[in-house]
Amino acid sequence: MIINADLHIHSKYSMATSKNMAPDAIVPQAKLKGLDLVATGDALHQKYLNELEKLFKQSENGIFTVKNDEDNCKFILTSEVDDLKRVHHLILIPSFEAAYNIRDELKGSLDSDGRPRVRMNGAEIMDVTHAHGCLIGPSHAFTPWTSIYKAYDSVVDCYGKKPDFLELGLSADTEMADHIEELQDIPFLTNSDAHSPWPHRIGREFNEIEIDNLTFKGVSRAILDKKIKANYGFDPRLGKYLKTGCSRCYQIYDIEEALNLKMRCPCGGMIKKGVDYRIYELSTWDEPHHPEHRPPYIHILPLAEILSLIYGKGVTTVFVQKIWKELVQKLGTEIDVLIHASLEGIEKVDPKLTSAIQAFRDNTLQIRPGGGGKYGKIIFDYDE
Ligand SMILES: [Zn+2]
Ligand SMILES: [Zn+2]
Repeated sequence: MIINADLHIHSKYSMATSKNMAPDAIVPQAKLKGLDLVATGDALHQKYLNELEKLFKQSENGIFTVKNDEDNCKFILTSEVDDLKRVHHLILIPSFEAAYNIRDELKGSLDSDGRPRVRMNGAEIMDVTHAHGCLIGPSHAFTPWTSIYKAYDSVVDCYGKKPDFLELGLSADTEMADHIEELQDIPFLTNSDAHSPWPHRIGREFNEIEIDNLTFKGVSRAILDKKIKANYGFDPRLGKYLKTGCSRCYQIYDIEEALNLKMRCPCGGMIKKGVDYRIYELSTWDEPHHPEHRPPYIHILPLAEILSLIYGKGVTTVFVQKIWKELVQKLGTEIDVLIHASLEGIEKVDPKLTSAIQAFRDNTLQIRPGGGGKYGKIIFDYDE
């Protein structure tokens, strides 16, 4: 069975998230998007765990559905934790029982935010979570704020061994990460890290995974056995941290220039090292070396964002949402529109969209890269 899975989101209990961010709000959006499996996020937070237990039907296999959900959208318990060195780890959790047991063993402030601050290092967190059947790996591994490669030069320095997976994050893809030798035997995940259920957030990155059965064991086996069929995600140029840039005024810098300025922008802001330069520092080879198990990485962007760019109207405006809904209803799911639908079919619903979708599929987009915390921008011909 092949599923589309988004394994990293946050709930309403995390900072700066939508106040409806919970499975019941996600279900209808996941269906339109074309996701089969979505993370709960924040499943180490006491209040959220209580809520989830009421919301979900009983399940013995670690995969959950919301009571009365006829669309049958599946959920998996996950949490992100922030460690002693401010490194973020993504944890896939097999059951509520495991979540409660892990809570008992983690030291730190577990309920002040949906993403707990844990006073332990990566190796200690890995030991606790592995003892309860979890999978663990670094989140958004290359970003300049809270990532493993911000704090360490090797994943082994953090965990004492290799993690179960590595999440690439919005500003990196397989072409970039496969310059690094130590990542050759680690499967890559592409997840949204969504903070709201809007369809341009959830599933903005996702994994196509081949599983034997849709259970926690089936999903974790597939990841460990490197059965990810494809990673779907941003062109790294569209991420917020590809280039070295000022985190206050977003001026993009060459690394030499930034180092000369001692990483201080004349505006007073801090200059943050770009993911491109960080990967260059960690690179073993000048060209990417893709191991045999590595699946293709396919660049996508949420359909509502593409429409917003084409029409010059906000992503969440009634205008954009109406075209989005029409496309999705006529052509299947959002993932179908982006990846599978024929260009003729798209042309019939929205002729202006056809060339943009084609540029994505042909990898011929023109992009002004992001950096310093500001997303990159697509430049369409009809901008002029
Ligand atoms: Zn994070
Ligand atoms: Zn600045």
